[in-house]
Amino acid sequence: METQREISRSCKECGGLLVGRIDQVYCSEMCRTSANNKRVREEAQRVPDCIQRIQKTLLQNYKILNGLRDRGSKLFSKLYLMDLGFNFHHVTGITEKDGTILFYCFNQGYALHNDQVILLAETDF
Ligand SMILES: [Zn+2]
Repeated sequence: METQREISRSCKECGGLLVGRIDQVYCSEMCRTSANNKRVREEAQRVPDCIQRIQKTLLQNYKILNGLRDRGSKLFSKLYLMDLGFNFHHVTGITEKDGTILFYCFNQGYALHNDQVILLAETDF
């Protein structure tokens, strides 16, 4: 009985024979990584298009805000950010401090004053 179970054990990724522990699922780290990558890809494909578009926009907004930090200024025109592809319709958070509305894209915060974007110090969240 025990022998039969061992003989029928095979790697879930490549089908190769498993010779290790009884709870072993993959024959190698490569097969484990490959199966995990496949699972992550499949999960990403299950995300509805409307959500994927917003995720892509948020990521682009994040990269733009993060990239502006290296320019040595905290003040940029709203038009300039729009030229870079920034989308002001999508944020991950909005809060108010001392009468000023603060917008966040993950840990990248900014305030709007007239047509200017004022970058805030990076936050830890
Ligand atoms: Zn394998």
